[in-house]
Amino acid sequence: MFDCVIVGGGPAGLSASIYVRRSNLNVAIIEGNMPGGQMANTAVVENYPGYESIAGADLAMKMYMHAINLGVEYIAEYATDIKKEEYFTITLANGETVTARTVIIATGMKHRKLHVPGEEEFTGKGVSWCAICDGNLYRGKDVAVVGGGNSAVEESIYLAGIVNKVYLIHRRDEFRCDKLVLERLKRLSNVELILNDEVKELVGGDSLEKIILKSGKELIVSGLFEYIGFLPSSEVISTLNIVSSDGFIEVDENCKTKIEGLYAVGDIVRKNVRQIVTAVSDGAIAALHAAKCCR
Ligand SMILES: Cc1cc2nc3c(=O)[nH]c(=O)nc-3n(C[C@H](O)[C@H](O)[C@H](O)COP(=O)(O)OP(=O)(O)OC[C@H]3O[C@@H](n4cnc5c(N)ncnc54)[C@H](O)[C@@H]3O)c2cc1C
Repeated sequence: MFDCVIVGGGPAGLSASIYVRRSNLNVAIIEGNMPGGQMANTAVVENYPGYESIAGADLAMKMYMHAINLGVEYIAEYATDIKKEEYFTITLANGETVTARTVIIATGMKHRKLHVPGEEEFTGKGVSWCAICDGNLYRGKDVAVVGGGNSAVEESIYLAGIVNKVYLIHRRDEFRCDKLVLERLKRLSNVELILNDEVKELVGGDSLEKIILKSGKELIVSGLFEYIGFLPSSEVISTLNIVSSDGFIEVDENCKTKIEGLYAVGDIVRKNVRQIVTAVSDGAIAALHAAKCCR
């Protein structure tokens, strides 16, 4: 039996594990993919204090080794279910179970993808889901944004201040966003709207070079930012009745859910700012509260 089991080994989960372990409790992380979460797939991180510029994979590895060197147990499996009776029982994809006195959910969020040819190949080499993080890599270059909501429009405005030109591709002729934001976008001379069209294929060599649209039009760009929605990774807690209709988890100021001993941290939580620094902050808060529960 673990004092604490953390589901998800991104920055939120890794940070939580460090704080739980430093409270002298035994703790395991269950991670179904590589350690580091979305951070590990980020080319360069330039806004994590202490590192002016660091490869996301390097930052992920530093956090992971920090946890492992403290004695955090790492279970490389997907968690498929969590039940609470006297204690928590977490079921893994391989059928095994793990028991814990407290559980911290740190499963993050996955970006909705276009699922077009070339998308996988150029992920991290032109295809991005984070303009704040990666926009600077395209300074002075041409990029495209795809989407029709607030995120797509706001991130296009942000990118227009950095890059040479932004093509905003939307499959309809009207945007689902605040009117004022749209007006701001339309005033920008380096943004071209491409309406009633969709991305068909991404083409390039070592990195993205061209987008082919369904209309046949071709855009020569170095970057494509996808803002077509997010999907919270909440499958593992679907039976616990703590997920709201949109899949995110409501927590209190201690990152505690409405179930005693169950916490949620990072991008899976309902909040406004989803960054590495906010994820690790949540991890620390939940861990210290969970540690109190175990004493
Ligand atoms: C392309 C991109 C670039 C970004 N760049 C930056 C940046 O430069 N700076 C910045 O501050 N933020 C950046 N972000 C945002 C940042 O990465 C996230 O806010 C942060 O990673 C959230 O951390 P998390 O631990 O909550 O979730 P994640 O990082 O999403 O980690 C969740 C982990 O849980 C695992 N998991 C999910 N379900 C299960 C399950 N059932 N069982 C086991 N494991 C599971 C996943 O495999 C994943 O590893 C970027 C995001 C993207 C997509």
